[in-house]
Amino acid sequence: MTETTSESLAEFRVRVREWFAAHVDLTGGSAESLEGVDAARRFQSALFDAGLAGLTWPEEYGGQGLTQAHQLAFNEEAEPYVVPTMPLLIGLGMCAPTLQEVGSQEQRDRHLARMLRGDEVWCQLFSEPGAGSDVAGLRTRAVQDGSDWVVNGQKVWTSGAHYSDYGLLLARTNPDVPKHLGLTMFVVDMRAPGVTIRPLRQITGGANFNEVFFDDVHVPGDAVVGEVGRGWQAAVTTLMNERVSIGAGGGGLGRRLGGGEYAALADLARRRDATADPVLRQSLASVFVEERLLELLSSRMREDAKAGRTPGPQGSVAKLAGAQLAKHAAEVGLEVLGTAAWTDDDADAERWTTSLLGAPGNAIAGGTPEIMKNILGERVLGLPREPAVDRDVPFRELRVGGGTS
Ligand SMILES: Cc1cc2nc3c(=O)[nH]c(=O)nc-3n(C[C@H](O)[C@H](O)[C@H](O)COP(=O)(O)OP(=O)(O)OC[C@H]3O[C@@H](n4cnc5c(N)ncnc54)[C@H](O)[C@@H]3O)c2cc1C
Repeated sequence: MTETTSESLAEFRVRVREWFAAHVDLTGGSAESLEGVDAARRFQSALFDAGLAGLTWPEEYGGQGLTQAHQLAFNEEAEPYVVPTMPLLIGLGMCAPTLQEVGSQEQRDRHLARMLRGDEVWCQLFSEPGAGSDVAGLRTRAVQDGSDWVVNGQKVWTSGAHYSDYGLLLARTNPDVPKHLGLTMFVVDMRAPGVTIRPLRQITGGANFNEVFFDDVHVPGDAVVGEVGRGWQAAVTTLMNERVSIGAGGGGLGRRLGGGEYAALADLARRRDATADPVLRQSLASVFVEERLLELLSSRMREDAKAGRTPGPQGSVAKLAGAQLAKHAAEVGLEVLGTAAWTDDDADAERWTTSLLGAPGNAIAGGTPEIMKNILGERVLGLPREPAVDRDVPFRELRVGGGTS
């Protein structure tokens, strides 16, 4: 029992409030800069030391073993603060849940507490130039060499690869079976010999994701996550958590901290004397409604998580709704700003134009809107499945698969 388990929920809430008030200077830093990563590590480490990281994680992995009610209280207290945790989102929100669900005991013991403390930053190496929506068609291959595996191939759009310590890699280990059956997931050391990382410049001006090349990279046998040949199942776990995490703004800390889009827009409208405009008021109200609906959906997903239910299609709804909200809010932000949106040296203009330019990419990350709609059509509405002519064909015989042999 830790000292925190004997405190009441109300006392816990006060502890969180006081901690944030005292550590507000820890916040700041851009999510896309290396300073942002350092800020994220420092912030996470301080949170961990205060017993406020991984509130609902098991204690054996550095978590607090507390209830969802504690997490909600934490989220409410943290709401006014902007915290620099974005660089940890993939590790805490996607990779850690995957290790918790399908990783070996040794992998959990070795990595989870370090991730939670901000000592290890992780990335997700699934997409390839020819395999995004159809990620099971990937061509990066891992071939067994004694007890090791040797990896060759290319990944792309790997967010945060340039500052990550480890990544979850999906590779083809058997091209002689249908595409979903020949995949294996590995933990890969991003600084291993043969790993080359090249940042890609985005329309926003940032370079937050990368091409990653693997040239004869040796990965030890104990780095297999789950079972050899069951990488698809492991990847589905990651992707489900990714959609929940993106949609709910989770990142391991619960929902997105720093307040919602509506609060930011209402503040902007007040500061820019735009609140009297009836059309803008209508736009603000519609953002409020969309955000409230997403919050309710997020809280339902957290309840599901609390009850131990694997995230289902509601993650896809949240992902889709979150993307639409982000785009809509950015458009309203520009509406409020008017022509000032395109002036230099205006922090508001930079904030909302960056949001608008980043919105299409954010809608694609973690699954495009069309793919989310396919999932909803099939799993929620019960529509017929999309035809999959390659489902039972050995990967080697597919046009894309021929390139791997
Ligand atoms: C900001 C950002 C961050 C990312 N971070 C990562 C990361 O960290 N790790 C990682 O592995 N990947 C990452 N990705 C990659 C992302 O997962 C892929 O971009 C995404 O899955 C789409 O794949 P694609 O780009 O190859 O597009 P494609 O799959 O080639 O799709 C092209 C178009 O065809 C449509 N389409 C494809 N298949 C269907 C279908 N069956 N039905 C209807 N329409 C379809 C798509 O909706 C899209 O409009 C990131 C992407 C972005 C934008």
